[in-house]
Amino acid sequence: MADPINVSNATRFVHAGERRDFPGGKPAATPIYATSSFIFDEIEDIDRIVEGGASGYVYSRYGNPTVAAFEEAVCEVENGAFAYAYGSGMAALHAALLACELTTGSVVLASRDLYGSTFELLYTVFGAFGIKTVAADFSDLETLQEAVAENKPSVLLCETLSNPLLRVCDIQAVAEIAHAVNAKLVVDNTFATPYLCRPLDLGADLVVHSATKYLGGHADATGGVVIAKNEFDRPALLGALTLAGGVLSPWEAHSLLRGLKTLGLRMEKQCSNAERLAHILKDSPYLSEVIYPKFFDGEHAIALDETFHGSEFGAIITVRLKEDTREAAYRFLNSLRVCTRATSVGDLFTGIVHPATATHRELSPAKRVSLGITEGTLRIAVGIEDLNDIAKDIENALKECHPAEAGIVSDIPFTNAAAAAQLF
Ligand SMILES: *Cc1c(COP(=O)(O)O)cnc(C)c1O
Repeated sequence: MADPINVSNATRFVHAGERRDFPGGKPAATPIYATSSFIFDEIEDIDRIVEGGASGYVYSRYGNPTVAAFEEAVCEVENGAFAYAYGSGMAALHAALLACELTTGSVVLASRDLYGSTFELLYTVFGAFGIKTVAADFSDLETLQEAVAENKPSVLLCETLSNPLLRVCDIQAVAEIAHAVNAKLVVDNTFATPYLCRPLDLGADLVVHSATKYLGGHADATGGVVIAKNEFDRPALLGALTLAGGVLSPWEAHSLLRGLKTLGLRMEKQCSNAERLAHILKDSPYLSEVIYPKFFDGEHAIALDETFHGSEFGAIITVRLKEDTREAAYRFLNSLRVCTRATSVGDLFTGIVHPATATHRELSPAKRVSLGITEGTLRIAVGIEDLNDIAKDIENALKECHPAEAGIVSDIPFTNAAAAAQLF
């Protein structure tokens, strides 16, 4: 660079003492590169990077080192060819669908119990461009095959574990059905996480995450990511990132990267807590149903085996109150003292959601009932607290929400683990 010249104080304030090269070694954690752009000693350097002849960063909408570190980490744990991170799970889903190059008249065949906003995205944003969405039951492979034959979709879209009924998708079988008609399979792996399942290994073309949930895990960052199986999807996904512009911020990337480091530890604890809790709740006189993948039989058990391969069944349990009403569900939620009344899932503390008024609020009551989401249905995302405290809290709240049988609830001595979780 040219020698520094005599400058005034105002200029000195702008340029003083910044932009130092790192002297050696490596920071143990990826730094937050909070910069929107990058500067160079020679203008030709920028040219070479933009042309693709040299690696580097020029402008953070096109790439940022902190964000790239997060993308590489997720790509590795999902066994992908590459990954791009986005500002939210919805931005990631939007990008994944854009990358499927849908045009007017294209059909998306979507699993009927997808995340509510995903359906809204399909019906409103993509629907406005003449892209048709057809809903099908992905757990019944025969009807799925018929729906594929009838609708000739370009994309099949499903979730590894559905929300809130935890239906398991036999990804390998669904991928075969999709590929037989040259359709792409896009899988939202938010609920299962790569700890339990890697859909790309089972034949999916694109995997999407709301990183806001388990990948981040600490309720402190919003983000999304798409992981691709094939290099040829790169230009379309990069375009959906840089032109639609829903990029992840380096601050969020840093939090998500830190969260990802403990995904294994958290999932191990959360899955074992969930399994023990599911067994305890199965005996509850206040519940008519306890949905947990371990208890599945028939086709669901086969799907579970094909998709999960393991002995762990996820960290989410869905229950139905015997008094199947909104009033009872609200009384239950308001009686909780350790578990949180949540709107999210995948945090390290236990969060309980009332799907009928939260995740599936936009659906008509009749539609909800047809999906099996009644007013007394509750979704428990189990956290890392001491299981005894979670179980006691839920059992007490169940007792309290059934007034006829409510006794006097004594003060429960909670453990340190529960107290620590509540310090957030
Ligand atoms: C939360 C969620 C999304 C949307 O993610 P955001 O980060 O909130 O945009 C998509 N799919 C599933 C399964 C989710 O749980």
